[in-house]
Amino acid sequence: MVRKTLVAAVLMAAACRVCNGEFGREKIEFKARPFSLKQVRLLDGPFKENMERTRKYLHELDSDRLLHTFRLNAGLPSSAEPLGGWESPSVEVRGHIMGHYLSACAMMYASTSDEKLKAKADVIVAELGKCQKALGNSGYLSAFPETFIDRVESLKGVWAPYYTLHKIYAGLIDMYVHCGNIQALEIAEKMAAWNKVRLDKIDRVHMQKMLNQTEQGGMNEAFANLYALTGRPDYLAMSRRFNQDRYTEPLARGEDRLKSEHVNSFIPNIIGTARQYELAAEPRDRKIAEYFWSQVVNHRSYCTGGTSNNEHWRSDPDQLAVQLGDHTQESCCTYNMLKLTRQLFTWNAETRYADYYERALYNSILSTQNPRTGMMMYFVPLASGRWKMYNLPYDSFWCCTGTGLENHAKYGDSIYFHNGDTLFVNLFIASELDWKQQGVRIRQETAFPEQGVYDKKVALLGKIGYLLF
Ligand SMILES: [Zn+2]
Repeated sequence: MVRKTLVAAVLMAAACRVCNGEFGREKIEFKARPFSLKQVRLLDGPFKENMERTRKYLHELDSDRLLHTFRLNAGLPSSAEPLGGWESPSVEVRGHIMGHYLSACAMMYASTSDEKLKAKADVIVAELGKCQKALGNSGYLSAFPETFIDRVESLKGVWAPYYTLHKIYAGLIDMYVHCGNIQALEIAEKMAAWNKVRLDKIDRVHMQKMLNQTEQGGMNEAFANLYALTGRPDYLAMSRRFNQDRYTEPLARGEDRLKSEHVNSFIPNIIGTARQYELAAEPRDRKIAEYFWSQVVNHRSYCTGGTSNNEHWRSDPDQLAVQLGDHTQESCCTYNMLKLTRQLFTWNAETRYADYYERALYNSILSTQNPRTGMMMYFVPLASGRWKMYNLPYDSFWCCTGTGLENHAKYGDSIYFHNGDTLFVNLFIASELDWKQQGVRIRQETAFPEQGVYDKKVALLGKIGYLLF
């Protein structure tokens, strides 16, 4: 366990333009805003080492192998060697890694200015555009046939096609946001046009049956982000169609009905609800997100900040001792709890969110990468005497391999926040912030957590000012 600490530093400097939100269509007042990944650079230390290992892996993954099942599904030739594990051509969630890969490349580019990686991801986006065109005029794009969606709608068994589509939407959106790839947004909007045609034929009752039967990831977050980027109200309405009533209605009443639920299905849906709150300012959405966070963090998380046992919440609140085993705290769940926590921190800048973020990041993300190979963990076993198990580079591609690619590309997104002339330093990670809006650079030098004491070496470069601790 690492020490839980928050340093809130106040920078006295000239007033700057108050940021209105990441994409500019948010309706709520934020108490803290993140910086662009492009404004933060990691300095030497364990976080940068993890990031560099993931950057190497992103370069090593072959583009044609990643595209193989997309091309085959579109009837295009491909002689690439198929990937293994969950990306095998016969596995129903094939293609999910593509979305994570694009997100990771986009964030890695923003974090490092690695032009070669951006160029590689840009080519993949163009190739996906060819696959979408070859699949017809509907806008459908995937590595599996559209009949999988037929099976979702007819309530027949299939392994999470909407979960996979969410990753692809998110990857394309990240390529647009972080790399300025306009074609990526165009492809995502064409997919959304296809999605709308299908959703318009489904009534509310049947939609809820679909959601209850099949994991759908953060589809509501993807459409909320498309609305934020384009202003098209259709997308916000489509986002709400993916809200799962079984999840949200008890939470809105302040009831914990989480027992037996699948954790990595649940958290992304609440992230989508939280995003809807930012864009539509409905108080109910805020209540759902905040109550959910409080229950998971205070009553269903281990001391490491992780949650879940064998992918589910298997007990009543505060009954964790009996849950310790080989398959505790799926890494995807930590990834998603950190995303939600980051959102909630921006709403009110409360220390409890920053404290949790630090605890979970150090104990349950930083520790999940193999320092020799750069490969990543699925579960973090918390029973005594257990061992760590990492993915194979080309033959695993678990869900946590996907979120693992993203985890180590975006450490810079939650070290610093700001609000006008106030700077929040939330994490002791060696880094440099280029606060262009204030004309200053902040350099944080620390060996934490390898050294247990933070030496407060925070240097302010540029404009005259001071930091309070
Ligand atoms: Zn996972």
